[in-house]
Amino acid sequence: MFIDIADVYMRSGDGGDGAISFRRDKYVSHGGPDGGDGGDGGDVVFVVDNSMTTLLNFKYKRKFVAKNGENGGQTKCYGAAAEDLEIPVPLGTIVKDKESGKIIADLSKTDDRFVVLRGGKGGKGNAKFATPTRQAPDFAEPGMPGEERDITLELKLLADVGLLGFPNVGKSTLLSKVSKATPKIANYHFTTLEPNLGVVALTGINPFVIADIPGIIEGASEGIGLGIQFLRHIERTRLLLHIVDVSGIEGRDPVEDFKLINEELKKYKLDLTDRPQIVVMNKVDLLYDKSYLEEFKAKVNELGYKEVYAMSAATGEGVEAIMKVCADKLQSIPIVDTIYDEDDFFIPEEKHFTYDIEIDEEGVYVVYGTFVDRLLNAVNLNNPSHLRYFHKVLGNKGVLDRLREMGIVDGDSIRLNDFEFEYYA
Ligand code: GDP
Ligand code: MG
Repeated sequence: MFIDIADVYMRSGDGGDGAISFRRDKYVSHGGPDGGDGGDGGDVVFVVDNSMTTLLNFKYKRKFVAKNGENGGQTKCYGAAAEDLEIPVPLGTIVKDKESGKIIADLSKTDDRFVVLRGGKGGKGNAKFATPTRQAPDFAEPGMPGEERDITLELKLLADVGLLGFPNVGKSTLLSKVSKATPKIANYHFTTLEPNLGVVALTGINPFVIADIPGIIEGASEGIGLGIQFLRHIERTRLLLHIVDVSGIEGRDPVEDFKLINEELKKYKLDLTDRPQIVVMNKVDLLYDKSYLEEFKAKVNELGYKEVYAMSAATGEGVEAIMKVCADKLQSIPIVDTIYDEDDFFIPEEKHFTYDIEIDEEGVYVVYGTFVDRLLNAVNLNNPSHLRYFHKVLGNKGVLDRLREMGIVDGDSIRLNDFEFEYYA
């Protein structure tokens, strides 16, 4: 079974407790406090693994719990911090809060490492609470609890070219001809249940990634059958290669098929007919009357699709030329960066995430804390819609009000970790 959605339960580790202990020394009857700090609990971290292409692993393992930090000990012994629990996921995984369905992170870059749940802080041992007037503190901080959350993982394939077309038109055959991928090829419907990715690397062209994904069926945009998964994948491809079986051996009308698929693309939540689309007439080797090609081409042109090519995936005729067209076209199509609405983002509950503000020597307002780490983790500040969300959250969470109370004026600098910007009311 092809799985591109998985629900999992996750929990980060609790912080270890700080210790209460006093020095026992031969010459001192009552030594000072020497209870060590507890170690931090382990974080739960997603790490992009480029060798993975499905979420299949999550079908078998659905519960992920990071270890707790160790308690502090005597003689200022610190408890060991727990290791982070690293969970490999395929590139293009979207992490969502299951309950609200909102987005926590979009792992679409190869170097993505995302802390989804922070381990609880270890508590301070009683040694840390000693002051000149309180020499024998008999208390220590308990460790902070970890966080838990039900998470939905969703995989959207990232590919340059997406193969589009009814079952049996020859998508898998094409992929096997132009790449090292080994998709299942068969003459019955719905054979391709798993998405297959292949790299097209022909001499003289820039390599690109092509995806052969589960066949579309009528009503796909309403979520019938495999269709909706297919559309979700298509959403992340830059160029569509729409394959049509023009031989008529399946007894279908090629023009009707072409129209049906584009109707589904149009009905999807994003209008996918905006994507550049190249039309491929396949199985020309079976075509007795070649004049049909011109007829089909004219009808498709009339519908607004100007680039139409013929090939036989079986014999290889026309295949390389079409790959060259794709490579050329890709050079002028920007990478698809999914644009989210501000409301799509998950805003964690306040109790787990806090921040503080300090003014440094240079007069920069430095905002720091778990809230800041989390917010910066969730957004890509090069993306204007993320940037708007970022400012909105600073407003909603009272950060801007706090800054004004502290006396910030237009032109002053604000820094959140590595990100510095100027304040304008
Ligand atoms: P998919 O469902 O779109 O992936 O289609 P497949 O690649 O599995 O192909 C379906 C059937 O059509 C297989 O039996 C292929 O061998 C056959 N086929 C694909 N392309 C061609 C072609 O260009 N010419 C001929 N004669 N058969 C083809
Ligand atoms: Mg197939």
